[in-house]
Amino acid sequence: ERIIAAGTQGDDEAFDRAVRPKRLADYVGQSAVKLQMEIFIEAARRRREALDHVLVFGPPGLGKTTLANIIANELGVSLRQTSGPVIERAGDLAALLTNLQPNDVLFVDEIHRLSPAVEEILYPAMEDFQLDIMIGEGPGARSIKLDLPPFTLIGATTRAGLLTSPLRDRFGIVQRLEFYDTADLQRIVTRSAAILGVAADAGGALRIAQRSRGTPRIANRLLRRVRDYAEVKANGRITDEVSQAALDLLDVDPLGLDIMDRKMLLTIIEKFDGGPVGVESLAAALGEERGTIEDVIEPYLIQQGFLMRTARGRVATRNAYVHFGLKLPERSGT
Ligand code: ADP
Repeated sequence: ERIIAAGTQGDDEAFDRAVRPKRLADYVGQSAVKLQMEIFIEAARRRREALDHVLVFGPPGLGKTTLANIIANELGVSLRQTSGPVIERAGDLAALLTNLQPNDVLFVDEIHRLSPAVEEILYPAMEDFQLDIMIGEGPGARSIKLDLPPFTLIGATTRAGLLTSPLRDRFGIVQRLEFYDTADLQRIVTRSAAILGVAADAGGALRIAQRSRGTPRIANRLLRRVRDYAEVKANGRITDEVSQAALDLLDVDPLGLDIMDRKMLLTIIEKFDGGPVGVESLAAALGEERGTIEDVIEPYLIQQGFLMRTARGRVATRNAYVHFGLKLPERSGT
């Protein structure tokens, strides 16, 4: 497993829960999102109404689940969590919706993976708080209408483009999470270290932040691995030197690129002359799923200016050649 994969792995979930901020004030960074949500939440609270439905999108590990939990917390309501692929039948969704208390939050992770049949019954539920479901099959089948308590649907997805437009149109609030800058990640590492009771100085936290691919989940995971190293090799103190030694050992390079990132860039450069190369060819050459490339590997490389997405495919930029100390091809205008 990639140490810097953005998805959850190993003991992430228990750990995520322990350090996950519970209030908006503790949610680091994402200032535009916070400013807006603060107002929307306060307005809904004053009117004692359900908050409008919220769509949150952004790469894995950036804080979508955390934000959903904070929204429910700040609203003073309960949150029920599920995910697109888990809701197999219309009845599963009906069971969830009818069990909500007024103004509760239903959080649906990977909402782009809902089946069309389930999506269909979600529309009237979101719009009019009404359920329209078929009971039974064949000639005996009948449709029943149920009133639902007002609720807030919070949907999370890695890319807004994956949603059907009728679903997307039913969200009144759409928030896009951005990769975090180093200062914000340093704050997150420092905060998590304090919660864990780990001694990490500013330099040690900064070094971890720099190699975390702009992603809080990765920052927290690297902190745990550096803590292991510090306990065994450095009396438990995380300094810049200790962080650096531990991260080098983990093969996370100074920009937070790991083996997968490097392999992808080098494949484009060496096998496809720097691109453009279609994502399918790239997936085949790397032995990776197309979705993993698009959702997990690529966004950070694009944000860092190592990769461009063009109409004809992926292109390695000048920065990528420089990073690997390779000579630029003659024709490269990138
Ligand atoms: P996602 O749902 O987008 O995959 P999560 O919400 O599960 O990501 O975030 C992963 C972990 O990163 C959380 O458990 C939390 O500890 C940390 N985290 C995410 N966003 C923030 C933030 N803005 N401030 C502090 N910690 C954060």
